[in-house]
Amino acid sequence: MRVACIGECMVELSERPDGSLMRGFGGDTLNAALYLARLGVTVDYVTAVGEDPWSDAMLAAWGREGIGLARIRRLPGRMPGLYIIRTDPAGERSFHYWRDNAAARDLFSEPGAAATRAALEAYDIVYVSGISLSLYGEAGRAALAETLSALRARGGRVAFDTNYRPRGWPDRAVAREAFRATLAQADLIFASVEDLDWLYGEPGVDEVLRHRGRAEIVLRASSGPVPVARVLYGEADTAVPAAPVARVVDTTAAGDSFAAAYLAARIAGLVPEAAAAEAHRLAGAVIGHHGAVIPREAMPPLVIRGPGPDA
Ligand code: ADP
Repeated sequence: MRVACIGECMVELSERPDGSLMRGFGGDTLNAALYLARLGVTVDYVTAVGEDPWSDAMLAAWGREGIGLARIRRLPGRMPGLYIIRTDPAGERSFHYWRDNAAARDLFSEPGAAATRAALEAYDIVYVSGISLSLYGEAGRAALAETLSALRARGGRVAFDTNYRPRGWPDRAVAREAFRATLAQADLIFASVEDLDWLYGEPGVDEVLRHRGRAEIVLRASSGPVPVARVLYGEADTAVPAAPVARVVDTTAAGDSFAAAYLAARIAGLVPEAAAAEAHRLAGAVIGHHGAVIPREAMPPLVIRGPGPDA
């Protein structure tokens, strides 16, 4: 099984109270690719970066995590996107972006796009998020949709995580339409009820549930005492609750790691309900640590990787 994750990773700067900045990297589909790789899945990240030192550092970091780099495009004279995280005195974080001109946005329009598309069609599973969709503009999204159709015609499958960030879109109508089109192509749908309500108005889940029976659906809801994943496939409709987490430190990448563990577990042959339990276990560990990427030693024991860290 070969998986491709499509999207954008950005340079992340965290501003400290004295104004100094600490550099990291961040991106939703990259987080998913990283956790897939840690769980033993053969995964390539599919994006475009520049030829600058930060792009070099990203690729080196991804390579160290075992993420495949063969489908990374390097665009001369271009740069990755960048964002700064500010934390106000009350501890509230805000995100500020410089990403309109990021190399990743040209994945489906740069000179090598035809080769990228041909390569994508050959994967077993292509994972894309709502944030990925927001990057490419109408023409790029049309190219992506054609590529996903060709992939499915060859027996490949599409996994779609409905991450919705309003600021990535010119308006909500454009986002709704793009999500609708991709939901219709998705064989595996990861969605959060909150995202869908935000995007479509309540109950936003109807937009996803109309694909019930055709697609496998994992709906996350966080409003109750513990988050619940509702798993729907065929006739089945089962709620799988998360175990309570003693101390939630940072929820960055909770949804991304959830999707990665679910997908890895399904690839390993677990049934959807068991895959959702694995997904909760990984996400529960991820939110117990700062940042999107937890130390390797903190990876929880999962059924699919045996007992203990790094088994
Ligand atoms: P996102 O905000 O990234 O969409 P969610 O809030 O949907 O993330 O959470 C994703 C997953 O992270 C949940 O399904 C659950 O597995 C885990 N999680 C998040 N918050 C908690 C919590 N308070 N207790 C236990 N697990 C949690």
